[in-house]
Amino acid sequence: MAKQTQQVHCSFCGRPRNEVSILIAGQEGHICENCVEHAQEIVSQELSNLPGKNNNAGSNFKLSVRKPMEIKKFLDEYIIGQDEAKKILCVAVYNHFKRINQKQKDDDIEIEKSNIIMVGETGTGKTLLAKTIAKLLNVPFAIVDATVFTEAGYVGEDVESMLTRLLQNCNYDVAAAERGIVYVDEIDKIARKGDNPSITRDVSGEGVQQGLLKMLEGTEVLVPPQGGRKHPEQKMIKVDTKNILFICGGAFDGVDKIIARRINTNAIGFNVNKEHQDMLRENLLKFINAQDIKSFGLIPELLGRLPIITYLNPLDIETLRSILTVPKNSLMKQYTKLFEIEGIALTVEDEVLDFMVTKAMEYKLGARGLRSICESILTDAMFELPGTDTKEFNVTLDYAERMFDKSKMNLLKVA
Ligand code: ADP
Repeated sequence: MAKQTQQVHCSFCGRPRNEVSILIAGQEGHICENCVEHAQEIVSQELSNLPGKNNNAGSNFKLSVRKPMEIKKFLDEYIIGQDEAKKILCVAVYNHFKRINQKQKDDDIEIEKSNIIMVGETGTGKTLLAKTIAKLLNVPFAIVDATVFTEAGYVGEDVESMLTRLLQNCNYDVAAAERGIVYVDEIDKIARKGDNPSITRDVSGEGVQQGLLKMLEGTEVLVPPQGGRKHPEQKMIKVDTKNILFICGGAFDGVDKIIARRINTNAIGFNVNKEHQDMLRENLLKFINAQDIKSFGLIPELLGRLPIITYLNPLDIETLRSILTVPKNSLMKQYTKLFEIEGIALTVEDEVLDFMVTKAMEYKLGARGLRSICESILTDAMFELPGTDTKEFNVTLDYAERMFDKSKMNLLKVA
């Protein structure tokens, strides 16, 4: 095999093995990635000329730019509340695509990238927001966790690997990936540990933040197609991040104290009454700004490349209740569908829904916990009913309580 690779070449363009990244073997020849791409173009062109075929053949990612209000309307179908974050995201995303489509400079005004940072407790819908936007715009999307990255040379992943994920998610369609969206979760976990970075090396904190800088701003990055660390023999794919939108999210536990301190300091000399103070304290995240995030430990250079900051509200009981039933693919709609496929009409009494959200609040499970609660209540029915004559299944409060008590969910109770 190794001997053969010396001589093999692309049977279409003639390039030898060492000049191409990928060479696919056929029965009597080989084809390189460039020729595959060309062939793909020809096929799409021919297909789109055929009568009855639409012109979307080819890339699966035909960008569909929407106006901010349209984006918001779409988000509203899937995400409850969080109006402030939605509005800011819609505008940022819209401006981002305006920037991409900007005709080459007839004046000197260059629109800057609008990477976004979202602050909010875990389970409040940050990932869901980013994912839903990517779905609407029909651009490749990747979710990456900032905690897996370490500074180059240390155990862990290089920051470039987030682009591997993006490429993999769009079948290595580089052009599509170059205007995709990357959601970087847990950005708060790479905050600088302490104010003096020079005492020990901070390979998973400031080092990673430094690594992210260029990528967020826009640069050509050589990406290992299969991920992992770069090594000299590996063929790399060049990806330009200039038009990739980065949305970062994090819970920033404790940032409220930083905000409170700042607001209080600012309020010195004013006669702020108790009621007003309570109102402020209720959701301090509303007042978050770059200064607070810097105090939390993100370096100013990184913040400069994440110019848009927004927050998500903690989920209250009413919001959780709506999350169960209102979104287009709400949990209740999904379970109803699952039963419907078995020919069973599922009904869940209102009291049961209240019970579910109360438990989610009580166990501090948030929206993510609703799913496990539903499972704990409905699993027995989903196990026993298929294949029987049952046509209807009504979940009463008594049944729900019994099932819930029987499940291991009880063990999750926080003291
Ligand atoms: P985060 O990224 O903030 O930790 P996620 O976006 O992953 O949270 O949310 C977890 C799950 O909770 C989602 O998949 C979704 O089902 C549900 N969820 C959270 N917030 C909302 C919301 N505002 N509207 C609808 N569903 C929500």
